[in-house]
Amino acid sequence: MRVHIISDMEGVAGIVKWEQTGSGEALFEEGRRLYTEEVNAAIRGARAGGATDIVVMDCHGSGKGSTFNNLVPDLLDPGCEYVVQEEWTEYTGFLEEGCDAALLIAMHARAGTREGVLNHTVSGQEWQNLWFNNVAVGETGINAALCGQWECPVLLVTGDQATCDEGRDLLGDGLTTVAVKRGLGAFSARQVPPQRARLMIEEASKHALADLTAVPPYDPGRPCEVMVEFKRTDPVDRLRRRPGVEVLDARRIVSRADDWWTAWQQFFF
Ligand SMILES: [Zn+2]
Repeated sequence: MRVHIISDMEGVAGIVKWEQTGSGEALFEEGRRLYTEEVNAAIRGARAGGATDIVVMDCHGSGKGSTFNNLVPDLLDPGCEYVVQEEWTEYTGFLEEGCDAALLIAMHARAGTREGVLNHTVSGQEWQNLWFNNVAVGETGINAALCGQWECPVLLVTGDQATCDEGRDLLGDGLTTVAVKRGLGAFSARQVPPQRARLMIEEASKHALADLTAVPPYDPGRPCEVMVEFKRTDPVDRLRRRPGVEVLDARRIVSRADDWWTAWQQFFF
């Protein structure tokens, strides 16, 4: 069984502040360690659930050389391989070869979610909102659509309670979720301590792989419109001559194509 673990940093138990997730910050090394150990828990659970091939892909932009490179290499469970990509959604090789399931670990809620710890979508500085065929989505939706492009279902989402709710709303009740904290605001939460959170994630990873059909692969629809509302006007300026991309107004663009992946690539890279 081939399992893709796609992970972010904001949804880790013990992480509630940007200083724990940003390159060069005093708390960053602690954050990386908490993050790596949580991913390790998912690896152990996946293996117990039958995974033979596990590839981990870090999707957290922490800045400088740590971006998508946040896992502490020599802390990482040796029973996996891991990808360091240069741009988010760039690596699709494992999915293209055929993947049975994806587990999304330590995700965060989409921008504008009141009780979403460290909530944002893609870029807190530039992005306000994102829709796939008029359905509001966050990064869980992006990763799920990427997996769905190659028929791979997302079976587990972990993070705070708001992230779990967002995942179930989008992917259905067959989704297994683990809430390791309940947000009280953007930078505050009531949390499960990391050591217990890891046990919960290990068990849920194993459980989620018991039924590979519990969640259908996510397809936002064909044809597909990806609409982005930016916070500023300059990202729109940069996209105004892109084929397939229409500027709707000063801060919104829409990218249209026959399928989600084509629409995404037209404007994102
Ligand atoms: Zn992140």
